[in-house]
Amino acid sequence: METFDYVIVGAGSAGSVLASRLSEDENVTVCVLEAGPRDWHPFIHIPAGFMYTLVDPKVNWLYKSEPSEWTGGRAIAAPRGKTLGGSSSINGHIYNRGQRLDFDGWGQRGNRGWGYADVLPYFRRTERRLTMEGGSGEELFRGREGNLPITDLEWRDPLCEAFIEGAVQMGIPRNQDYNGAQQAGVSYVQRIIENGRRKSAARGYLHPAMSRKNLTVRTHAHASEIVLEGKRAVGVCYRQGSRGGGRSGAPVEVRARKEVILSGGAVNSPQLLQVSGIGPAPLLKSLGIEVKHALAGVGENLRDHYAPRFVARVKGATTINERSKGLRLVGEVMKYALTRKGILALNPTLIYVFWKSDERVDNYDLQFTFTPASYKEGVQSTLDDFPGMTIASWQQRPDSIGYVRARSADPFQHPVIQPNYLTAESDRKVLLAGMKIARRLLMSKPLSEYYDREEFPGPQAQSDDDLMAAAKQRGTTTFHLMGTCRMAPETDPTAVVDDQLRVRGLEGLRVVDASIMPTMPSANLNASVLMIAEKAADMIRGKAPLEAAILKD
Ligand SMILES: Cc1cc2nc3c(=O)[nH]c(=O)nc-3n(C[C@H](O)[C@H](O)[C@H](O)COP(=O)(O)OP(=O)(O)OC[C@H]3O[C@@H](n4cnc5c(N)ncnc54)[C@H](O)[C@@H]3O)c2cc1C
Repeated sequence: METFDYVIVGAGSAGSVLASRLSEDENVTVCVLEAGPRDWHPFIHIPAGFMYTLVDPKVNWLYKSEPSEWTGGRAIAAPRGKTLGGSSSINGHIYNRGQRLDFDGWGQRGNRGWGYADVLPYFRRTERRLTMEGGSGEELFRGREGNLPITDLEWRDPLCEAFIEGAVQMGIPRNQDYNGAQQAGVSYVQRIIENGRRKSAARGYLHPAMSRKNLTVRTHAHASEIVLEGKRAVGVCYRQGSRGGGRSGAPVEVRARKEVILSGGAVNSPQLLQVSGIGPAPLLKSLGIEVKHALAGVGENLRDHYAPRFVARVKGATTINERSKGLRLVGEVMKYALTRKGILALNPTLIYVFWKSDERVDNYDLQFTFTPASYKEGVQSTLDDFPGMTIASWQQRPDSIGYVRARSADPFQHPVIQPNYLTAESDRKVLLAGMKIARRLLMSKPLSEYYDREEFPGPQAQSDDDLMAAAKQRGTTTFHLMGTCRMAPETDPTAVVDDQLRVRGLEGLRVVDASIMPTMPSANLNASVLMIAEKAADMIRGKAPLEAAILKD
């Protein structure tokens, strides 16, 4: 049987960083198992290809969450990347870290070494901040030598400029760097992209390491079980097939001399633990799975951002909707081929606003996104036929809590994903306030030159009940599932890993991905996952943590 020092399950955002960092040590061997294919698909690398990979089963697990009251009984898509780079190969490639209070909160919950001053050096280690002329990048906060290029969006158009001006007139200041000292304000987005091409975690970390003799990367290799000897993880069983691994592939076992590391993401890591007999005993018993290690929190504490969108019809300006059709699209394709610019170099969202639901709130609890485009039925894979613009809003730190639970003992069957969107009243309150601000932003004076009329939910929707009905009707995920293998002190009944990311009560097994987050950061998640993996790499290698940043109060 083949034996490596480390076996990593999943070559996504976290797995790519770990594979690269751990294999820097020539004296250890590392094997990475990835269920999906290599990241050859051209739409992975063209930013606008996002619209296609969002629905492509070749590179996407295409999960769906369970219907619930506040989604109006709809099962919402829950896409997850299934290829080298994982979700960082199909995401909106926006770079957003969150707020200082997010990580201070992680530390204050009893997770030593995870306060903002501790994690800031790891954020910096991941990034190579490239600024436009006049752009920002305060050295205390930003890194210059990391693997991933962080660039400012170069696109400018009258709609975006008018939107920003409208926000400023509402008292929301322009922010030169929402990943710097302060998140609040309005600005163009920062992206992980270079020369008009996406830079996934695989392209930034994994590929440059793949020529190393001590790193083995197996694609189409779906891990089906963690092999335990008593309370120690000693290996992983997987099935390797030509099409995304899967049950038809031949079973193979690889052994880990030092550690097995799960980086399968917030859906797959808890599912793999559960089908391997590690999880809540009542759930495992109900599925006929032998309980090898009872751990109540596995799969619990799921959270996500839930966003309703307002769509307005545009007059007097060209939006992405028209540019993406007919002869104009041909022109855009040629422009991209020659210059790597134009709408094909755009990601789904162009402007971010961070603001608060109520003046009395100390911490900015709302995020808005604006884009001069609109999607049919609010689904981000098909653009409308009329000129449109969209604003979305969401509660940054949701209190609603759901779960991921294996549906059966079969590791290839999609698990139950129930985020329980908006079940917490606090989430509904903040969301409603956000929707009202979103509408004001769309109807601002500077945008009025281009604002024709509201298409969704439409002017008839005025009362709180009308707005919540609209949220139910078309609200969607912003793709930020997290928290299902929670890092927490032993006293917390939902704890799955300790602050070294070791699975509690077992040896030789860690989880390193979005599932370990104790609470939702005020952000999209990729930046934090990369930070977590950089920090975990030092822990696994037994290196001292990077020196904490010295911050002003
Ligand atoms: C459509 C979309 C848009 C997003 N947009 C943004 C954005 O603009 N900015 C941002 O910051 N964040 C964004 N996110 C979120 C962010 O990309 C993810 O939170 C982050 O990439 C998760 O990293 P991870 O390492 O936890 O998991 P992933 O990157 O999902 O990696 C998990 C990997 O493990 C593999 N795997 C899973 N199970 C197994 C198994 N049993 N055997 C073998 N391999 C397995 C998967 O195929 C996958 O490659 C988006 C996410 C999605 C899906």
